[in-house]
Amino acid sequence: MLMNGVESGREKAYSVNPGLRIFDDLNFFSSRCLIRLFHASPQLLVRRDDDTPWGLKTQRKGKFKNRPKSSSPPVEAPYVPPKIKRVARSLPDKTIEIFEGMTILELAKRCGESIPTMQSILVNVGEKVDSEFDPLGIDIAELVAMEVGVNVRRLHSDEGTNVLPRSPVVTVMGHVDHGKTSLLDALRQTSVAAKEAGGITQHLGAFVVGMQSGASITFLDTPGHAAFSAMRARGAAITDIVVLVVAADDGVMPQTLEAMSHAKEAGVPMVAAINKCDKPTANPERVRLQLAAEGLLLEEMGGDVQVVEVSAINKIGLDKLEEALLLQAELMDLKARNDGPAQAYVVEARLDRGRGPLATAIVKAGTLVSGQFVVVGAEWGRIRAIRDTAGKMTNFARPAMPIEIEGLKGLPMAGDDIIVVHSEERARMLSEGRKKKRERDRLRKLEKEKREKEKEEEIEGEEEEEEELEAPELGDQRGGGKRRRKERRKLQEKENKPKRPELPIVVKADVQGTVEAVVDALKGLNSPQLPVFVVHVGVGPISQSDIDMAEACSACIVGFNVRNPPSSISLAATQAGVKIKLHRVIYHLLEDIGNLIVEKAPGTFETQVAGEAQVLNIFELKGRSKAKGADVKIAGCRVTDGRFTKLSTMRILRSGEVVFEGSCTSLKREKHDVDAVGKGNECGLVIQDCIDFRVGDVIQCLEQVNIKPKFISSENGAVRIES
Ligand code: GDP
Repeated sequence: MLMNGVESGREKAYSVNPGLRIFDDLNFFSSRCLIRLFHASPQLLVRRDDDTPWGLKTQRKGKFKNRPKSSSPPVEAPYVPPKIKRVARSLPDKTIEIFEGMTILELAKRCGESIPTMQSILVNVGEKVDSEFDPLGIDIAELVAMEVGVNVRRLHSDEGTNVLPRSPVVTVMGHVDHGKTSLLDALRQTSVAAKEAGGITQHLGAFVVGMQSGASITFLDTPGHAAFSAMRARGAAITDIVVLVVAADDGVMPQTLEAMSHAKEAGVPMVAAINKCDKPTANPERVRLQLAAEGLLLEEMGGDVQVVEVSAINKIGLDKLEEALLLQAELMDLKARNDGPAQAYVVEARLDRGRGPLATAIVKAGTLVSGQFVVVGAEWGRIRAIRDTAGKMTNFARPAMPIEIEGLKGLPMAGDDIIVVHSEERARMLSEGRKKKRERDRLRKLEKEKREKEKEEEIEGEEEEEEELEAPELGDQRGGGKRRRKERRKLQEKENKPKRPELPIVVKADVQGTVEAVVDALKGLNSPQLPVFVVHVGVGPISQSDIDMAEACSACIVGFNVRNPPSSISLAATQAGVKIKLHRVIYHLLEDIGNLIVEKAPGTFETQVAGEAQVLNIFELKGRSKAKGADVKIAGCRVTDGRFTKLSTMRILRSGEVVFEGSCTSLKREKHDVDAVGKGNECGLVIQDCIDFRVGDVIQCLEQVNIKPKFISSENGAVRIES
């Protein structure tokens, strides 16, 4: 007992802060309470008065009520590690490379996650892996990486038994009106499909030109206008060679330089085609010098960029251009694995009423076989049919071959990759995973934008608050009141803020890539007074649902490269008051919408001098009754410039200085009230509250003029709205 007493005394002396002994003496707090006192904040102590342990949530009653009671001590039960809970993150800025056969360890390192986390995700995606050194399939690696929230770049193995030379894939780029479309048209007429199908080629976004030697070149049929730069940038990813078209009569222009930098960034070699050499004003030598001055190492100057003079209209020099491209391809020693699973890219995608989503693709490596399960971007499907550029069905597609595939469940986007997977289940999983990841990234972006906007508003609010607090009557108020005031003001501002006008537009186009390009081009108009708001986009002809959507949002519908809607749809649009604007040339579309913006923009009001007059004489009207007011002075003037209108503000200038400004109350010509007086005429003028006219004063008639934005189109084809 004595020993016990000593022990407990010592314990007290060492473990309890002497300052808190008082609690001991009061015999009020248990030792548990003291520990709480040390670890809990005063706020917590005030707030919590129940007996639940702090920091832990109260377990809901009945959660484990069905658990069988065990009489054996828990320590003998086998240890089950707790399931690791992860909140799905989204790191859209991080991209990792993945490959077939990588280990969990490698993947965990690249993702920046722990092995147990990776293992738990693997279990979630239905994959069982025993060791962290076990190899993973590339699809599984992608699924896991997507769960972690990072982007992936698949490293396709170049291993294959049958590596063979392949045709080059060529993109035509250059400045607007320099003849890209004409050149592609001319080349297309010599294409394999044109020869085989009697001159009829279906528009696939790519075509093949065959040479007598048996070699062939695949041309991407992407339009080259600046508005299509998004598609072009994607095109460059599959492109081996860029044909840089420069008009011989125009020379290097801004979009020529833009095309050059696109190609350089993508590390794609160029062949320069100096077009329109048939024109009398053509000066190919000047173009050569300009290109060299822009840093292009031309062959004739000791570099490796070939230059060919052509005329797309007269079909001159096309064979030389094709030879130059083949020579460039030879230098590049283009080869691809011909066997094994295919890796391909989407060039264009469109919706066909009868056949469903169709994607034009170019195979990069391997062989794409009809019947295979594929994942295309975030879509999937089983290839039902493969068609070549002539529209002929084929069972498989080899590298550099443009094909159209049928059987996808949804519409992919231009630039999406096509991968072959072994089962429907795998295809579905990957597609779902990619869709989820895209959605997560989209929401994250929205959330980020929202947060940034709120932050900006908060900073603005705080600045105003500080200004307000400088006023003494508000300075002594307490924090809560301050916050409430701030919130109230925010709410009021929100309610009072006039809604910013917008131009809602529904965009429909023939293919996905074009939709994106049109949307980008419309946004590029960049009109601050009336910004374009794209409410809906879609591929295919204009339908009733587009009309409904446009009606609901008071939008107009822009159809690019789509066929004229049937009369029933046109009628429905007229009845709904929905305007449909159909175009096939991007410049015309932008011009049309630009003019609409100019028409609908509210404009800004500016004060302008509409006329000037000189005071020649002053008359006084005296002896007026009290009811009519005080004496009035009338300025007898001559309008020396512009015109004077009664409903305007007048400004008096004396020796160049403004001495008075007020509204006009009377404007007369020879005793008759008039609304306006033109240049060279005399008039009598009364300005409200002004009795200080002097002979020689200059009076200006001021008018409020509504300045509308302007649609500006520069020579290089670029357009914009200027406020
Ligand atoms: P893009 O905007 O670069 O696709 O240019 P286009 O192919 O639409 O051509 C623009 C204009 O130049 C059209 O009026 C063509 O007829 C004309 N053009 C194109 N190539 C030639 C050519 O080789 N010679 C002449 N004289 N005119 C051409």
